[in-house]
Amino acid sequence: MKEWQVEDAGGGCRAFSEVIVLACQNTGELFSSTIPLTWDDGSSLEEKACSQLIQMMSEARVTRDDFFYVCSGNIFHKFHDWLSKNEYNWEVSKIDGLAHEYAEHLFHCQVVSAGFPANIQLVERNYRDYYRAVERWIYADESRLALLKDREVRLKPAETRYILKGNGKHIRSCHKCSKKITPYTPIVVYRHRESGRRVRRYYHLECTPVKPLKSTLESATVTWAACNVDGIVLGAGKEACPCVVCGQPVLPGEKTFYGYWQEKILLTGHLSCFLNGKQPLLAPDS
Ligand SMILES: [Zn+2]
Ligand SMILES: [Zn+2]
Repeated sequence: MKEWQVEDAGGGCRAFSEVIVLACQNTGELFSSTIPLTWDDGSSLEEKACSQLIQMMSEARVTRDDFFYVCSGNIFHKFHDWLSKNEYNWEVSKIDGLAHEYAEHLFHCQVVSAGFPANIQLVERNYRDYYRAVERWIYADESRLALLKDREVRLKPAETRYILKGNGKHIRSCHKCSKKITPYTPIVVYRHRESGRRVRRYYHLECTPVKPLKSTLESATVTWAACNVDGIVLGAGKEACPCVVCGQPVLPGEKTFYGYWQEKILLTGHLSCFLNGKQPLLAPDS
């Protein structure tokens, strides 16, 4: 059994990448990675840290018998959950010694290699002074601003940027698999501002990189020509197609069922007409 420490450094500084370290106290093995300054895959900082740690654990060939002492920082919250879910032996701990020193050393190396004076160092965990010195150095030269962390992607959990809903009449293409997202089927919409621009991305339910926190999707199953048809319920748009049940037009805003009979033929109709079990006017294949 090995005992591992997990520690980070540099999270409190507005510039340079956070450093993550996995260190074994017994053997002195060291593994590290850095969080990029910015990213655009929609994941949160906690998710980034978690997936990089999983990668480091596999490089380190950890086993289920090993024990993990993990820093309590927010950056590791997702990782804490992941360890519990995967039944590793672990606890939150204040990290001293090897992992802590190595993480701070790597962060300092990063700063110095960008040109920051090497003699200005962290003294006795006085992060405030050290980070402020680094930040003053960054702001002193416009060309160094590129070394600032993207605060926006670090702000809030990614889940809140994804919404599960019913797709309308538009054919969207999926940001992950590039295939079409059929009109009137479930869709995951990513909405976010990235460097001042409104960004929207669309995903199939099975392609979304993040499980959406929010859902406005309303599903329904109706019976049509003795088959169950799964579909979605939306306020109708301006398509003004007739209800397949009663023959009357479906008016904008009316609660409307959309579903694919035999996965091919789109059925549109008043939700109430379907639920009242009225007989169809038209044969589904006419
Ligand atoms: Zn897809
Ligand atoms: Zn109707």
